Amino acid sequence: MAEPEVKAANFIRHIVEADLAADKYASRRWSGQPGSGPQQLAGPPDPAKIRTRFPPEPNGYLHFGHAKSILLNFGLAQDFGGNCHLRFDDTNPEREDQEYVDAIISAVKWLGCDWNENLYHASDYFDFMYEAAESLIQSGNAYVDSQSAEEMRANRGTLTERGKNSPFRKRSVTENLDLFRRMRAAEFSDGTHILRAKIDMAAPNINLRDPAIYRIRHAEHHRTGNKWCIYPMYTYAHPIEDALENITHSICTLEFEDQRPFYDWLIERLAEGGLLAQPVPRQYEFSRLNLSYVVLSKRKLIQLVEEKHVTGWDDPRMPTLVGARRRGFTAEGFRLFAERIGVSKSDSWIDMSVLEECMREHLNETALRRIAVLDPLKLIIDNCPENHEELCEAPNHPQYPQLGKRPIPFSRELWIEREDFMETPAKGYFRLFPGNTVRLRYGFVVTCIGADKDANGNIVAVHCEYMPDSKSGTPGADTYKVKGNLHWVSARHAYPCEVRLYDRLFSVANPGAGERDFLLDLNPDSMRVIAAQLEPSLKDAKPEDRFQFERHGYFVADLRDSAPGKPVFNRAVTMKDSWTKPR
Ligand code: ATP
Ligand code: MG
Repeated sequence: MAEPEVKAANFIRHIVEADLAADKYASRRWSGQPGSGPQQLAGPPDPAKIRTRFPPEPNGYLHFGHAKSILLNFGLAQDFGGNCHLRFDDTNPEREDQEYVDAIISAVKWLGCDWNENLYHASDYFDFMYEAAESLIQSGNAYVDSQSAEEMRANRGTLTERGKNSPFRKRSVTENLDLFRRMRAAEFSDGTHILRAKIDMAAPNINLRDPAIYRIRHAEHHRTGNKWCIYPMYTYAHPIEDALENITHSICTLEFEDQRPFYDWLIERLAEGGLLAQPVPRQYEFSRLNLSYVVLSKRKLIQLVEEKHVTGWDDPRMPTLVGARRRGFTAEGFRLFAERIGVSKSDSWIDMSVLEECMREHLNETALRRIAVLDPLKLIIDNCPENHEELCEAPNHPQYPQLGKRPIPFSRELWIEREDFMETPAKGYFRLFPGNTVRLRYGFVVTCIGADKDANGNIVAVHCEYMPDSKSGTPGADTYKVKGNLHWVSARHAYPCEVRLYDRLFSVANPGAGERDFLLDLNPDSMRVIAAQLEPSLKDAKPEDRFQFERHGYFVADLRDSAPGKPVFNRAVTMKDSWTKPR
């Protein structure tokens, strides 16, 4: 499907346009990889007009909220002749893992984003960050604090009360350097000392009250192993990462707004000291995605996985990108969604139906049509000989005849939907009931002559007679005027198959609203597994092939559970937005 020709304007695009018009970042140098000040000043001009970055912490799988950020950052780079970096913000050794790194790489690729050679890790800058911390000590901008965590908390003050200076704040440069080096040399245990920026304990913004910048953590890092026992704090590391990578526009979500003064304070100090090149990056905040009927907090997603409320991170009901992919959602659908919801600074909730509609729009354009009977009931055509067999033809896509037609076999015994027969028709019911005539879509016109029941009175088969001269597409077929048009598959040829009907994971718009446990809001009907009968060609579907099952919605051959010649299908979305209550 064509993407919107003109991207919707937003405040960040305006900033980038103005910066480019003013040549604000034109003097940057780039040696081909992130560097420190002197290196950056020496290289040739940076060929990238702007640089943005997506900086996930590898401590979980990416979710729908991340998609918004990814598409914004990569989209800006693409539209303005820049580069977007994929950077792992791996400064927190305890919670991070290579499994997450791999999953994040694959999800960003799946969204169609390309970082070229710009794949980086914050941990690659640990040496530089350490040097930068020493330089801050030298210039009197950082000190080692030895208060306990409780003392530090107590002395931090509150929103209305200023903080109190630490008794260690007046330590000399020599003493600070000595202690910091000994912290690095593993002389101290976790929590005994911490390096803090020396700013202002009376600052109205709490983030400027001497924020911590290095802490002792005797933990093995998934990339640097045991090289370090001190690790930089996120708020210290992040601005440095941006600056070393020549990031021009550091775009993050609104909760970081209060961190911006420290971001600026830090890189300006380091730039003044010659450690970072000018012009330095600037941070801009936008509102995060809040989406109804899901949770988008990593902590809650981890809980769903660990407590086995879902089958894993890639459960098709999970709001993760791996889950969406198995669900049959598409990268193009996410792009459409990102474009449609836009980027702003005001917090808002987006309804899940908006995302579903974007997926539906893309799938409607691209998914081939197939026939599936999800609740099979036998239909026997009494005037059709036992071993008669012929081919009918059905279009692969009604809007695109160039996609051709496929043969579908017809025979005496067919499967139809159970709901397409009523012994005693309700008012306005045009489908099968004794005496009524309908068309079998792409096939013949049939008249119902009765039904068989089991001992309990349940309908087990419907009987019809067909008009052999009524085959769709043949001369004279149009002379039959009928109201009902039913889909069917030949019983002898059908592919019996497991189909999973997925629905929303939560049954309320705002799971866990207030103090409520969000698990109580799980939708008990979020997955229904059924035994369906599919048209034979679906047996050859490859994992991730997507189809519209006529009348039923959009389905995908499951990426994980399909075997060659034996695909199983997941429902991505229904044909229309029919969400009113859990089904
Ligand atoms: P969570 O809030 O679930 O813990 P996170 O923000 O900690 O997620 P990170 O790996 O730090 O996850 O996020 C990487 C980037 O994705 C950050 O720049 C962050 O601002 C952005 N991001 C995270 N959640 C959302 C969201 N809901 N909408 C838009 N961007 C988001
Ligand atoms: Mg975060």
